[in-house]
Amino acid sequence: MSIIVVGSSAFDDIKTPRGSRKRIVGGSCIYFSIASSFKSKTNIVSVVGSDFPKRMLTILGKRNIATDGLIIENGTTFNWGGTYNTFSEDPETRFTNLNVFKKFSPHIPTSYPKENAILFLANIDPVLQNKVLDLYPKPRIVGLDTMNFWINSKRKELFKILNRIDILTINELELRLIGRKKSIQDCCKVITKDLKIKFLIVKKGSMGSMLVTNKSFNLVPSYPFCDVVDPTGAGDSYAGALFSFLDNKKNINKGTILDAMIYATSLSSFTIENFGINRLLNLKRSDIYKRENELKKIARIEI
Ligand code: AMP
Repeated sequence: MSIIVVGSSAFDDIKTPRGSRKRIVGGSCIYFSIASSFKSKTNIVSVVGSDFPKRMLTILGKRNIATDGLIIENGTTFNWGGTYNTFSEDPETRFTNLNVFKKFSPHIPTSYPKENAILFLANIDPVLQNKVLDLYPKPRIVGLDTMNFWINSKRKELFKILNRIDILTINELELRLIGRKKSIQDCCKVITKDLKIKFLIVKKGSMGSMLVTNKSFNLVPSYPFCDVVDPTGAGDSYAGALFSFLDNKKNINKGTILDAMIYATSLSSFTIENFGINRLLNLKRSDIYKRENELKKIARIEI
Protein backbone atom coordinates (compact mmCIF):
# COMPACT_ATOMS: atom_id res chain seq x y z
CA MET A 1 0.00 0.00 0.00
CA SER A 2 1.38 3.35 -0.93
CA ILE A 3 0.77 6.75 -2.44
CA ILE A 4 2.30 8.50 -5.44
CA VAL A 5 1.97 12.29 -5.36
CA VAL A 6 2.80 14.77 -8.10
CA GLY A 7 2.87 18.42 -7.17
CA SER A 8 4.97 21.51 -6.65
CA SER A 9 8.10 21.76 -4.51
CA ALA A 10 8.70 25.38 -3.74
CA PHE A 11 10.24 28.31 -2.00
CA ASP A 12 7.40 30.39 -0.56
CA ASP A 13 7.43 34.08 0.40
CA ILE A 14 4.58 34.48 2.85
CA LYS A 15 2.97 37.42 4.62
CA THR A 16 0.24 36.90 7.22
CA PRO A 17 -1.19 39.10 10.00
CA ARG A 18 1.23 37.26 12.31
CA GLY A 19 4.44 38.05 10.37
CA SER A 20 6.32 37.22 7.21
CA ARG A 21 8.90 34.74 5.90
CA LYS A 22 10.98 34.65 2.70
CA ARG A 23 12.12 31.59 0.74
CA ILE A 24 10.84 28.96 3.11
CA VAL A 25 10.37 25.43 1.79
CA GLY A 26 6.81 24.68 0.69
CA GLY A 27 4.90 23.42 -2.31
CA SER A 28 1.89 21.18 -2.64
CA CYS A 29 3.74 17.86 -2.78
CA ILE A 30 6.05 18.74 0.11
CA TYR A 31 3.14 19.51 2.46
CA PHE A 32 1.18 16.52 1.14
CA SER A 33 4.00 14.00 1.55
CA ILE A 34 5.03 15.08 5.05
CA ALA A 35 1.39 14.80 6.16
CA SER A 36 0.84 11.43 4.49
CA SER A 37 4.12 10.02 5.83
CA PHE A 38 2.54 9.54 9.30
CA LYS A 39 0.50 6.62 7.88
CA SER A 40 1.74 5.72 4.38
CA LYS A 41 4.76 5.11 2.23
CA THR A 42 4.74 8.19 0.00
CA ASN A 43 6.50 8.59 -3.36
CA ILE A 44 7.13 12.06 -4.79
CA VAL A 45 7.06 13.10 -8.46
CA SER A 46 8.24 16.71 -8.74
CA VAL A 47 11.11 18.99 -9.73
CA VAL A 48 13.37 21.42 -7.87
CA GLY A 49 16.27 23.65 -8.90
CA SER A 50 19.89 23.30 -7.83
CA ASP A 51 19.16 25.93 -5.14
CA PHE A 52 16.84 23.56 -3.22
CA PRO A 53 18.42 22.60 0.15
CA LYS A 54 19.92 19.06 0.12
CA ARG A 55 19.07 18.96 3.83
CA MET A 56 15.39 18.79 2.80
CA LEU A 57 15.96 15.54 0.90
CA THR A 58 17.48 14.05 4.05
CA ILE A 59 14.48 15.20 6.09
CA LEU A 60 12.08 13.59 3.60
CA GLY A 61 14.19 10.40 3.46
CA LYS A 62 14.07 10.04 7.27
CA ARG A 63 10.28 9.98 6.96
CA ASN A 64 10.50 7.14 4.44
CA ILE A 65 9.32 9.48 1.67
CA ALA A 66 10.74 8.32 -1.67
CA THR A 67 12.34 11.07 -3.76
CA ASP A 68 13.62 9.09 -6.78
CA GLY A 69 10.98 10.93 -8.81
CA LEU A 70 12.04 14.35 -7.51
CA ILE A 71 14.22 15.68 -10.32
CA ILE A 72 16.95 18.21 -9.51
CA GLU A 73 17.36 20.53 -12.52
CA ASN A 74 20.00 23.15 -13.16
CA GLY A 75 18.06 26.32 -12.42
CA THR A 76 15.79 27.90 -9.86
CA THR A 77 13.10 26.23 -7.75
CA PHE A 78 9.44 27.21 -8.19
CA ASN A 79 8.73 30.32 -6.12
CA TRP A 80 5.32 31.51 -4.89
CA GLY A 81 4.57 34.72 -3.01
CA GLY A 82 1.28 35.04 -1.15
CA THR A 83 -0.31 37.45 1.32
CA TYR A 84 -3.07 36.56 3.76
CA ASN A 85 -4.70 39.91 4.55
CA THR A 86 -7.02 38.11 6.97
CA PHE A 87 -7.26 34.46 8.00
CA SER A 88 -10.82 34.15 6.70
CA GLU A 89 -9.94 34.85 3.06
CA ASP A 90 -7.90 33.05 0.42
CA PRO A 91 -4.38 34.44 0.02
CA GLU A 92 -3.62 37.08 -2.55
CA THR A 93 -0.95 35.74 -4.91
CA ARG A 94 1.81 38.37 -5.30
CA PHE A 95 3.83 36.29 -7.80
CA THR A 96 4.13 32.80 -9.23
CA ASN A 97 7.56 32.07 -10.73
CA LEU A 98 7.33 28.64 -12.35
CA ASN A 99 11.11 28.48 -13.03
CA VAL A 100 12.15 24.79 -13.40
CA PHE A 101 8.47 23.79 -13.70
CA LYS A 102 8.32 25.43 -17.15
CA LYS A 103 10.22 22.53 -18.72
CA PHE A 104 9.32 19.77 -16.26
CA SER A 105 8.69 16.36 -17.78
CA PRO A 106 7.50 14.06 -14.99
CA HIS A 107 8.54 10.42 -14.84
CA ILE A 108 7.62 7.59 -12.52
CA PRO A 109 10.77 5.75 -11.42
CA THR A 110 10.89 1.94 -11.62
CA SER A 111 11.43 1.88 -7.83
CA TYR A 112 7.84 3.16 -7.31
CA PRO A 113 4.90 0.69 -7.17
CA LYS A 114 3.99 -0.39 -10.72
CA GLU A 115 0.23 -0.20 -10.13
CA ASN A 116 -2.46 0.02 -7.49
CA ALA A 117 -1.00 2.89 -5.46
CA ILE A 118 -3.26 5.81 -4.67
CA LEU A 119 -2.38 8.57 -7.14
CA PHE A 120 -2.74 12.13 -5.87
CA LEU A 121 -2.45 14.93 -8.41
CA ALA A 122 -1.68 17.84 -6.10
CA ASN A 123 -1.95 21.47 -7.14
CA ILE A 124 0.17 21.80 -10.28
CA ASP A 125 -0.30 22.53 -14.02
CA PRO A 126 -3.21 20.32 -15.21
CA VAL A 127 -1.15 19.44 -18.31
CA LEU A 128 1.30 17.72 -15.95
CA GLN A 129 -1.55 16.13 -13.97
CA ASN A 130 -2.84 14.56 -17.22
CA LYS A 131 0.67 13.39 -18.16
CA VAL A 132 1.22 11.67 -14.80
CA LEU A 133 -2.08 9.82 -15.04
CA ASP A 134 -1.08 8.67 -18.56
CA LEU A 135 2.18 7.36 -17.06
CA TYR A 136 0.33 5.56 -14.25
CA PRO A 137 -2.79 4.06 -15.84
CA LYS A 138 -3.71 1.58 -13.09
CA PRO A 139 -3.97 3.48 -9.79
CA ARG A 140 -6.17 2.30 -6.93
CA ILE A 141 -7.93 5.67 -6.89
CA VAL A 142 -7.11 9.13 -8.20
CA GLY A 143 -7.43 12.31 -6.14
CA LEU A 144 -6.87 15.85 -7.35
CA ASP A 145 -6.44 19.37 -6.00
CA THR A 146 -6.11 22.59 -7.99
CA MET A 147 -6.27 26.36 -7.50
CA ASN A 148 -7.56 29.58 -9.09
CA PHE A 149 -4.29 30.12 -11.00
CA TRP A 150 -4.83 26.89 -13.02
CA ILE A 151 -8.65 27.06 -13.16
CA ASN A 152 -8.37 30.46 -14.83
CA SER A 153 -5.37 29.82 -17.07
CA LYS A 154 -5.79 26.12 -18.11
CA ARG A 155 -9.55 25.47 -17.92
CA LYS A 156 -9.68 23.08 -20.90
CA GLU A 157 -6.78 20.92 -19.66
CA LEU A 158 -8.23 20.99 -16.15
CA PHE A 159 -11.61 19.70 -17.33
CA LYS A 160 -9.85 16.92 -19.24
CA ILE A 161 -8.26 15.65 -16.03
CA LEU A 162 -11.42 16.24 -13.94
CA ASN A 163 -13.13 13.69 -16.19
CA ARG A 164 -10.59 11.06 -15.12
CA ILE A 165 -10.55 11.26 -11.30
CA ASP A 166 -12.45 9.80 -8.30
CA ILE A 167 -12.01 12.32 -5.47
CA LEU A 168 -11.67 16.10 -5.80
CA THR A 169 -10.45 18.22 -2.86
CA ILE A 170 -10.90 21.96 -3.43
CA ASN A 171 -11.92 25.05 -1.48
CA GLU A 172 -15.14 27.00 -1.87
CA LEU A 173 -13.68 29.68 -4.18
CA GLU A 174 -12.23 26.99 -6.44
CA LEU A 175 -15.61 25.22 -6.48
CA ARG A 176 -17.30 28.43 -7.63
CA LEU A 177 -14.63 29.06 -10.29
CA ILE A 178 -15.01 25.53 -11.68
CA GLY A 179 -18.81 25.37 -11.42
CA ARG A 180 -19.56 28.91 -12.67
CA LYS A 181 -23.09 28.74 -11.18
CA LYS A 182 -24.76 31.14 -8.75
CA SER A 183 -25.42 28.66 -5.95
CA ILE A 184 -22.93 26.36 -4.26
CA GLN A 185 -25.40 23.49 -4.68
CA ASP A 186 -25.44 23.96 -8.48
CA CYS A 187 -21.64 24.18 -8.54
CA CYS A 188 -21.53 20.86 -6.66
CA LYS A 189 -23.84 19.34 -9.29
CA VAL A 190 -21.38 20.31 -12.02
CA ILE A 191 -18.77 18.19 -10.20
CA THR A 192 -20.83 15.21 -9.06
CA LYS A 193 -23.43 14.98 -11.86
CA ASP A 194 -21.91 16.54 -15.03
CA LEU A 195 -18.30 15.49 -14.41
CA LYS A 196 -19.42 12.34 -12.51
CA ILE A 197 -16.73 12.69 -9.82
CA LYS A 198 -17.77 10.27 -7.06
CA PHE A 199 -16.59 12.27 -4.07
CA LEU A 200 -16.18 16.03 -3.78
CA ILE A 201 -14.54 17.41 -0.63
CA VAL A 202 -14.95 21.16 -0.20
CA LYS A 203 -12.49 22.72 2.26
CA LYS A 204 -14.10 25.69 3.98
CA GLY A 205 -11.27 26.86 6.27
CA SER A 206 -12.54 27.67 9.75
CA MET A 207 -16.01 26.50 8.63
CA GLY A 208 -14.78 22.91 8.31
CA SER A 209 -15.11 20.67 5.28
CA MET A 210 -18.00 19.20 3.34
CA LEU A 211 -18.34 15.83 1.62
CA VAL A 212 -20.61 15.87 -1.43
CA THR A 213 -21.78 12.91 -3.52
CA ASN A 214 -24.54 12.87 -6.12
CA LYS A 215 -26.94 11.93 -3.31
CA SER A 216 -25.68 13.55 -0.11
CA PHE A 217 -24.00 16.42 1.77
CA ASN A 218 -22.11 15.97 5.09
CA LEU A 219 -20.25 18.56 7.13
CA VAL A 220 -17.21 18.00 9.36
CA PRO A 221 -16.36 20.94 11.65
CA SER A 222 -12.90 22.49 11.84
CA TYR A 223 -10.84 22.21 15.03
CA PRO A 224 -12.03 25.34 16.87
CA PHE A 225 -9.04 26.03 19.12
CA CYS A 226 -6.25 26.68 16.60
CA ASP A 227 -3.75 29.48 17.04
CA VAL A 228 -3.44 30.41 13.35
CA VAL A 229 -0.06 31.80 12.28
CA ASP A 230 0.21 30.80 8.59
CA PRO A 231 -2.57 28.99 6.68
CA THR A 232 -0.22 27.94 3.83
CA GLY A 233 -0.28 24.22 3.22
CA ALA A 234 -3.47 23.57 5.15
CA GLY A 235 -5.15 22.20 2.03
CA ASP A 236 -2.22 20.07 0.93
CA SER A 237 -1.58 18.60 4.37
CA TYR A 238 -5.34 17.93 4.70
CA ALA A 239 -5.18 15.98 1.42
CA GLY A 240 -2.03 14.11 2.51
CA ALA A 241 -3.66 13.06 5.76
CA LEU A 242 -6.95 12.13 4.05
CA PHE A 243 -5.40 9.89 1.39
CA SER A 244 -2.99 8.22 3.82
CA PHE A 245 -5.98 7.33 6.01
CA LEU A 246 -7.80 5.87 2.97
CA ASP A 247 -4.62 4.04 1.91
CA ASN A 248 -4.97 1.98 5.10
CA LYS A 249 -8.63 1.07 4.46
CA LYS A 250 -9.88 -1.86 2.38
CA ASN A 251 -12.98 -0.03 1.19
CA ILE A 252 -13.22 3.56 0.16
CA ASN A 253 -16.79 4.72 0.68
CA LYS A 254 -18.70 7.57 2.28
CA GLY A 255 -18.13 6.22 5.82
CA THR A 256 -14.37 5.78 5.49
CA ILE A 257 -14.04 9.16 3.78
CA LEU A 258 -15.88 10.90 6.64
CA ASP A 259 -13.54 9.23 9.16
CA ALA A 260 -10.59 10.28 6.99
CA MET A 261 -11.89 13.87 6.98
CA ILE A 262 -11.81 13.99 10.78
CA TYR A 263 -8.23 12.70 10.83
CA ALA A 264 -7.28 15.19 8.07
CA THR A 265 -8.90 18.08 9.95
CA SER A 266 -6.90 17.19 13.03
CA LEU A 267 -3.54 16.89 11.26
CA SER A 268 -3.93 20.00 9.09
CA SER A 269 -4.97 22.11 12.07
CA PHE A 270 -1.36 21.75 13.29
CA THR A 271 0.14 22.87 9.96
CA ILE A 272 -1.24 26.38 10.34
CA GLU A 273 0.12 26.90 13.86
CA ASN A 274 3.56 27.91 12.55
CA PHE A 275 5.13 29.18 9.31
CA GLY A 276 5.74 26.70 6.51
CA ILE A 277 6.41 23.07 7.35
CA ASN A 278 7.87 23.82 10.81
CA ARG A 279 4.97 22.56 12.89
CA LEU A 280 4.50 19.44 10.74
CA LEU A 281 8.13 18.48 11.23
CA ASN A 282 7.78 18.63 15.02
CA LEU A 283 4.44 16.83 15.13
CA LYS A 284 4.02 13.52 16.93
CA ARG A 285 1.42 10.86 16.03
CA SER A 286 0.05 11.11 19.57
CA ASP A 287 -0.67 14.86 19.03
CA ILE A 288 -2.71 14.07 15.92
CA TYR A 289 -4.70 11.24 17.56
CA LYS A 290 -5.44 13.35 20.66
CA ARG A 291 -6.92 16.15 18.54
CA GLU A 292 -8.73 13.62 16.34
CA ASN A 293 -10.51 12.21 19.40
CA GLU A 294 -11.30 15.69 20.70
CA LEU A 295 -12.78 16.56 17.31
CA LYS A 296 -14.91 13.39 17.25
CA LYS A 297 -16.45 14.47 20.56
CA ILE A 298 -16.97 18.05 19.35
CA ALA A 299 -18.59 16.89 16.10
CA ARG A 300 -21.20 14.71 17.85
CA ILE A 301 -24.47 16.38 18.61
CA GLU A 302 -25.91 14.94 21.81
CA ILE A 303 -28.90 16.50 23.56
P1 AMP B 1 -2.41 25.34 0.15
O1 AMP B 1 -2.36 24.01 0.81
O2 AMP B 1 -3.58 25.46 -0.76
O3 AMP B 1 -2.24 26.48 1.11
O4 AMP B 1 -1.13 25.39 -0.86
C1 AMP B 1 0.06 26.06 -0.51
C2 AMP B 1 1.19 25.70 -1.45
O5 AMP B 1 0.80 25.82 -2.83
C3 AMP B 1 2.37 26.66 -1.29
O6 AMP B 1 3.41 26.01 -0.58
C4 AMP B 1 2.78 27.05 -2.72
O7 AMP B 1 4.15 26.82 -2.98
C5 AMP B 1 1.93 26.17 -3.61
N1 AMP B 1 1.45 26.89 -4.79
C6 AMP B 1 1.03 28.20 -4.88
N2 AMP B 1 0.66 28.50 -6.14
C7 AMP B 1 0.86 27.36 -6.88
C8 AMP B 1 0.67 27.02 -8.26
N3 AMP B 1 0.21 27.93 -9.14
N4 AMP B 1 0.95 25.76 -8.65
C9 AMP B 1 1.41 24.85 -7.77
N5 AMP B 1 1.62 25.10 -6.46
C10 AMP B 1 1.36 26.34 -6.01
